[in-house]
Amino acid sequence: ATPTSIMVGTGKSAENGILFKGGEHLERTHQLDAVILDKTGTLTKGKPEVTDFIGDDTSLQLLASAEKGSEHPLAEAIAAYATEKQVEILENNDFQAVPGQGIIASIEGKEVLVGNRTLMKEKNVDTKGKEAELAGYEAQGKTAMFIAVNGEYHGMVAAADTLKETAKEAIEELKEQGLEVMMLTGDNERTARAIAEQAGIDQVFAEVLPEEKAAKVKEVQEQGKKVAMIGDGVNDAPALATADIGMAIGTGTEVAIEAADVTILGGELLLIPKAVKLSKSTIRNIR
Ligand code: ADP
Ligand code: MG
Repeated sequence: ATPTSIMVGTGKSAENGILFKGGEHLERTHQLDAVILDKTGTLTKGKPEVTDFIGDDTSLQLLASAEKGSEHPLAEAIAAYATEKQVEILENNDFQAVPGQGIIASIEGKEVLVGNRTLMKEKNVDTKGKEAELAGYEAQGKTAMFIAVNGEYHGMVAAADTLKETAKEAIEELKEQGLEVMMLTGDNERTARAIAEQAGIDQVFAEVLPEEKAAKVKEVQEQGKKVAMIGDGVNDAPALATADIGMAIGTGTEVAIEAADVTILGGELLLIPKAVKLSKSTIRNIR
């Protein structure tokens, strides 16, 4: 490989908004077999909005007050909803985030839980009669959460995040280039499948805890595949570092950008197939 053509290639990529950290990353990109995309903030806009709320005024107040301690995008969605409904926020003590599951807070002496079924199961909250309703939201691609107060079911809230406008087209182009496309998320299986279907992705890894994301990448690599991981969040950083090529979404966190080999400016997903194309044409010119 001539250093000059690599330099031309990385320069051309940069002009397009694809920032390779080094020439070797541009070279390696043409060998990829599979692309794994994170869901929230990568495939989707990462700005969920509350679409459904089931419960009374008390459950809404406890929900909003509990989420006040969280910086998760779902918490922001709930905060916006509470502001719109003019909910008075109560003091929130002993807030605890349970990664990949939800939150636990103490409000006016009550223990408030907000989160997925795993959290409810672990805290022995009976949600049997409410399962079908939760699944119904999930089938629509929404993230649905239970609210529990002092160990009892107290309501439900669902939020929807929308796919980025160019997601479908970008996936299509990647497939045309002969790449396998997969989605990786901490969200539940049903929601993940619904979003994946909208994007045209049929391989889905759902309910993957933040610390397990890198292991999933390794699993695909062990099938003999060269893997690109695309992500935006702090919890994607180990997976980005593990992948053969880590691509960070430019609108994402600094930690993700540091762990990655490439940054995609503005989070434009069409730049992923573009990067592959530029890598291939660079390599072709070398040979
Ligand atoms: P993602 O990969 O979509 O960023 P996370 O691993 O952050 O997902 O979270 C997985 C799941 O845990 C969420 O879909 C939600 O059910 C639950 N969860 C996480 N944070 C919160 C929160 N602040 N409030 C309620 N539920 C939460
Ligand atoms: Mg994300």
